[in-house]
Amino acid sequence: MTTRAVTDVRTGVYRFPTPVEEADGTFTWNATTAVTVQVSAEGVTGLGWTYSAGAAAALIDGQLADVVRGRDAFDVPGAWEAVHRAGRNLGTRGLFAQAQSAVDIALWDLKARLLDVPLADLFGRVRGRVPVYGSGGFTTLDHEQLAEQVAWWRSVGCRAMKIKIGESWGRRADRDLERVHQLRDLAGDDVALMVDANGGYSPGQARRIGSALDDLGVTWFEEPVTSDDPEDLRLLRGVLRCDIAAGEYVADVYEAGHLITAVDCLQLDVTRCGGYTGWLRCAALAAAAGLQVSGHCAPSLHVPVAAALPELRHVEWFVDHARLEPLLVDGAPSVEGGALVVGSSPGHGMTLSEGAAQWEVS
Ligand SMILES: [Mg+2]
Repeated sequence: MTTRAVTDVRTGVYRFPTPVEEADGTFTWNATTAVTVQVSAEGVTGLGWTYSAGAAAALIDGQLADVVRGRDAFDVPGAWEAVHRAGRNLGTRGLFAQAQSAVDIALWDLKARLLDVPLADLFGRVRGRVPVYGSGGFTTLDHEQLAEQVAWWRSVGCRAMKIKIGESWGRRADRDLERVHQLRDLAGDDVALMVDANGGYSPGQARRIGSALDDLGVTWFEEPVTSDDPEDLRLLRGVLRCDIAAGEYVADVYEAGHLITAVDCLQLDVTRCGGYTGWLRCAALAAAAGLQVSGHCAPSLHVPVAAALPELRHVEWFVDHARLEPLLVDGAPSVEGGALVVGSSPGHGMTLSEGAAQWEVS
């Protein structure tokens, strides 16, 4: 045991119902589950979480806690390697990567708190404000509900907004384009339009829809086809004017490496790609390919690394997470003038909220 040994690893599962059923092109949901991890050393506690399923907490409790306990709290990359190796026979991606992400974020938060510095400064802050874009626009929303979201994004200064298209696996293409028109009318001419098909179109359909989106002035076409096949993304990138974006399911540098020649902007999610350690490694690959990075979802958690990445384009201010993060934690950063403000508190500045107990799954 070292003097700064991690002594405690505790998990929690919190389920936040959505106000109404929500859907994108290829998935429907009515709640978001946050799996939290708290790690302690010398009486100081760090917090991390991922958006996943309760199974991620079981994985941490049963497989990962023992790997982390007793390790030097300052050796976060060493803990990352040890946890990654512990996943060899389970598979290190998907659910495992989400569990590992929560642990890694908690350990970085703990280290920064032990040092009494903001996590953004520990990583090397290059900016004090992290630009965001408004994101939501589910296919289940009616015009009035979309108008409410757009009004919210405008009220906090978002200059870029994204809606879901690819409804019903691409079977409602006319409605998709009609809703992009609605977004332009609601958002105004000074807002960059972005869409996300969540892999709902076939390659040929994506070319035809993409051409119509180009005519509508859309600048961002996310997962026009499944990102499981980077070659199809690469071909679309060659024929469309809008940027092709993907990367939200990337779990490690190898998966990031498959995408960097297929996209114009690489998306990375700290709650899925191995936490802050994994995010910064994948972001370095993007930088080497001359690409910018956009943070996927989990806006509060992205702030420390987004503040430290010169090649950052923006972070996704996703309505479900923007709504629930202030309920889950105290100290969630706010959006002002279209940007998340980087705080000056030690760590990432967030602690589990007492009020979160009412959302906890027992
Ligand atoms: Mg997406």
